[in-house]
Amino acid sequence: FKKIVVANPVVELDGDEMTRIIWKKIREELILPYLQLDIKYFDLGLEYRDETNDEVTVESARAIQKYGVGIKCATITPDEARVKEFNLKQMWKSPNGTIRNLIGGTVFREPIILRSIPKPIPGWVKPIVIGRHAFGDQYRSTDFVAPGPGKLQLVYTPEGGSEPTTLDVYDFKGPGVAMSMYNTDESIIGFAHSSFKMALAKKMNLFMSTKNTIMKKYDGRFKDIFQEIYEKEYKSAFEKIGTYYEHRLIDDMVAQAIKSSGGFVWACKNYDGDVQSDILAQGFGSLGMMTSELITPDGLTLESEAAHGTVTRHYREYQKGNETSTNPVASIFAWTRGLLHRAKLDGNEKLKEFCDDLERACVEVIDEDGIMTKDLALAIHGSEMLRHQWVITDVYMDAVNAKLQKKLKSKSI
Ligand code: NAD
Repeated sequence: FKKIVVANPVVELDGDEMTRIIWKKIREELILPYLQLDIKYFDLGLEYRDETNDEVTVESARAIQKYGVGIKCATITPDEARVKEFNLKQMWKSPNGTIRNLIGGTVFREPIILRSIPKPIPGWVKPIVIGRHAFGDQYRSTDFVAPGPGKLQLVYTPEGGSEPTTLDVYDFKGPGVAMSMYNTDESIIGFAHSSFKMALAKKMNLFMSTKNTIMKKYDGRFKDIFQEIYEKEYKSAFEKIGTYYEHRLIDDMVAQAIKSSGGFVWACKNYDGDVQSDILAQGFGSLGMMTSELITPDGLTLESEAAHGTVTRHYREYQKGNETSTNPVASIFAWTRGLLHRAKLDGNEKLKEFCDDLERACVEVIDEDGIMTKDLALAIHGSEMLRHQWVITDVYMDAVNAKLQKKLKSKSI
C-alpha cells in the first residue's frame, strides 16, 4: 500500500499492562504500515514515570498542546499496592488528571455501537456522547456535620473591603448536616465552548441539563452562560448543519434519553456526569467499546483514549503465559479519533477516509463476520457461551487488518 502522508505530528502516550501489549500491536500493524506519520512518543508506563519523577507526563501534556493531538494508552494510577508492586519513589498522581489540569478542556465519552450485541436499552441504536464538567460543585464542596442546634450562614466577603453579604441558610433545631459548594464563570464558559465544539464536530444536537427550577441562581447561571454563548457564537454554525442546542431539566433529560434512539451530545454537570456516564457504559454493553476524548474550549487540542483501564486481570493471565481475549476496539478508536482530529486540523481527506475505514473494519468484523473477543461473546451468549464463539485478541486484530486491507484495495483499483 502507498502510505498516506500525514503532514503534522501526533503525540503518542504509551501506557501499562495489557493495554500496553495491545497498543504496540495497533501501532505496528494497523497504523504504521498505512500512514507516513511523525509520532512524538512519550512513555507513560509506570516504570518510566517513576524514573523521571513524573516529568514525562508533564512533557507529554506540553507536546499535546504544541501539536494539537494526543493519543493515549491506558495507564496505571498508583495506589498503595502499586507503590509496593513497582517499588515507586512516591504515589504518583493520575496521568489523566495531570494532563487535564495542564491542557484544560472537557472529557466526552462515546460508545461504539454494535448491532449484534443486545443492549439493556434496545432503542439506543446511535451513540449518546456524554461530556462531564469536571470542575467544582460537590467535588470541591465543604461539608459539615452540625452537632446540635445552631444557625447556619453563608458569608461572601468581597475583595477590596466592601460590605460582606451574609445569607441565612438554616436554623438547626437539632443535629444535622450542611454543605457549601461553588463553581466559576470561567470554568462554565470553557465547558460550554468544549461542548459546542464537540457537538459540531460530531454533527449532533447538544443538550445541557440542570435542575434550574430548584437551584435558580446556581444552575440558572449554567443555563444562561450556555444560552448566551450559543446565540452569540454557535447558533448559525449549528443551523448550517441542521442541528441545535437546547437546555433540558435533568429529569426531563433522563426520561428523554431513555426513550430516544441516541445520536446526541449531552453536557452534564459534574455530579450528573459522574452518574450518567456509568449508566451509559452499562446501557451500551462493554467497557471495551467506550471511547473518551478530551477537547479544549478553543476546539484545537484533542486527546483521545479508551475509557477503560489497563485490564490488569487479563495481564496477570498473560504473564502466566495463558491466552487472553482483551477487547482492543476502544484502544484502536483512541488512534482513529486522534488521527481524525489531525485530519480535521490539516484538512487531510485521505487520512479521514483511512480512519473511517479502520473504524468500520472493527465493527464489521464483529457484526458481519461474528469474530469477537470474549467480553462481547459473553454479552451475546451469557453463561451459555462456548469456546468457539470468541477469539483471542490477536486473531480479532488480524481479522480487522485483513478487512481494512480489503477496503483499501477496493479503493486503489
Ligand atoms: P479496567 O477498566 O482495566 O478493568 C475492569 C474490568 O473491566 C476488567 O477486569 C474486565 O473485566 C473489563 N474490561 C475493561 N476493559 C476491557 C477490555 N478492553 N476488554 C475486555 N474486558 C475489559 O479497570 P480496573 O481493573 O479497575 O483498573 C486497572 C488499572 O487501570 C488500574 O491500575 C487503574 O489505575 C487503571 N485505570 C486507568 C484508566 C485510564 O488510564 N484512563 C482508567 C481506569 C483505570
